[in-house]
Amino acid sequence: MNQGKALYKLQEIDLGLIRCDKRLQAIEAQLADNDAVKAAQVTVDIAEEELKPLQKNLRDLELQVQSTRSKRNNTETRLYSGSVTNPKELQDMQNEIESLKKWHAELEDRMLEVMLGVEEAESVLNDAQDTLAQVMEAAATENQDLLSEKQALISEVSHLQEKRIAAIAAVDETNLKLYDTMRPQKANQPIAKLNSDDTCSACGIRQMGVVTQEIRRSEELIYCRNCKRLLVAL
Ligand SMILES: [Zn+2]
Repeated sequence: MNQGKALYKLQEIDLGLIRCDKRLQAIEAQLADNDAVKAAQVTVDIAEEELKPLQKNLRDLELQVQSTRSKRNNTETRLYSGSVTNPKELQDMQNEIESLKKWHAELEDRMLEVMLGVEEAESVLNDAQDTLAQVMEAAATENQDLLSEKQALISEVSHLQEKRIAAIAAVDETNLKLYDTMRPQKANQPIAKLNSDDTCSACGIRQMGVVTQEIRRSEELIYCRNCKRLLVAL
C-alpha cells in the first residue's frame, strides 16, 4: 500500500481515538459533578437546620404544658378531697392553682407562636425538597443522555482500535517510527494532504511544482516546505 496513504489512514484513526478520549473524560467529569444538585441540596440542609431547633422548642413546651396540667390536677384533687382543712394551706393550694393556670395560658401562647414558626419552616423545607427532586430528575435525564453517549464512545473506541491494528500492518516499520516521533511535535498531525491547488492542508502554503509532481507520482514521502509535515496526495 502507498505509504503516504497508509500513514494518513492511521492518523485519521488516531485522531478519532483522541477525540473519543477527550469526550469521555469530559463526560466523566460532568457525571461526577452537578452544581445544580449540589446547590439544591445545600438549600435543603439549611432549611432542615432552621426547622430542628423550632421542633425541639415545641416538644419542650408540650412537655411543660403536660407537667403544669398534671401539677394542677394533683393540687385540685387534694383541694377538693376534704383531707386538708387548714385554711392557710387551702389558700396556698388555691393560689398555686391560679398561678399554674396563668402559666399554662402563657405556655400555650408560646406554643402557638412556635407552631407558626414550625409551619413556616416546614413549608420552606418542603419547597426546597421539591426543588431538589426536580433538579435531581433533570440531572438523571441528563445523565441518561451522557451515559448513552459514553456507551457509544466506548464501542467507537474499540472499533477504532481494531481498525488501528489493520492500519498499522499496512505501514512499514521505518515509517511507523517516523510517524510516532513526529506525532508529539506536530500536534498529533504529522501527515498533511496535498490539496488540488498544491497547498498543504495543514498550513495552507503552496508547494513547488516539481515537488507536487513528485508527491503525486512517486511513493516517496516528502515534507511540506513550510510546516515540515509529510505530504500525501489522496
Ligand atoms: Zn504545511
